[in-house]
Amino acid sequence: MKILLATQNKHKVDEISRLLKPYAIDVASLLDYPELGEIVEDGDSLEANALIKAKAGYTHCGLPTLSDDTGLFVDALDGAPGIYAARYAGEQATYDDNVEKMLGAMKTVPEGKRQAQFQTVAVFYDGKTSISAAGVVEGNISLSRQGNSGFGYDPIFIVDDTQKTYAQMDISEKNRLSHRKRAFESLLIKLNHTHQAFKVGLR
Ligand code: IMP
Repeated sequence: MKILLATQNKHKVDEISRLLKPYAIDVASLLDYPELGEIVEDGDSLEANALIKAKAGYTHCGLPTLSDDTGLFVDALDGAPGIYAARYAGEQATYDDNVEKMLGAMKTVPEGKRQAQFQTVAVFYDGKTSISAAGVVEGNISLSRQGNSGFGYDPIFIVDDTQKTYAQMDISEKNRLSHRKRAFESLLIKLNHTHQAFKVGLR
């Protein structure tokens, strides 16, 4: 079975492809379909945005599609940036812009009050049915950048019980405990019951 990952984010493609290794699945992504361009994510929840991406991917490529949408919820900022994590520092914001804005916004927040949560909703869509699952990881916003791996807010998110930011982990370690891994793990358990290709060990 061939599956589309509805993302152009190379980091996500690498992370999700590794999670799909145990399955008899060939993985394509929107990096293979650059003509589709950017998908407008104007839903009002992570699930809505993940479904928008999955449907756009399916419609364009005609393949059963997996997608995900992630938000960062910071307690001291009343849950901001939440589902707007990509655009926190403005419409055209880079990862660096968003990290700088976050460090600035948290400048006066003391250690012990810097709790935050990454939430991901993963979705499968095959033109008929959609199935979704969520994954959450608790952590803290660091006082400064730490580490060079990963993407997005990885350099400033210290994962609870590890003392490390995601950016201080290699992809295997991040993939053992991340919000994305948790969401896909529970989605894959659901798909295991409904779709033959998602039975482990068939490869
Ligand atoms: P997306 O819409 O799922 O791509 O996520 C929105 C934004 O959240 C991205 O632009 C990143 O800044 C951030 N983000 C998503 N996933 C991660 C992650 O695994 N680590 C750090 N930041 C992430």
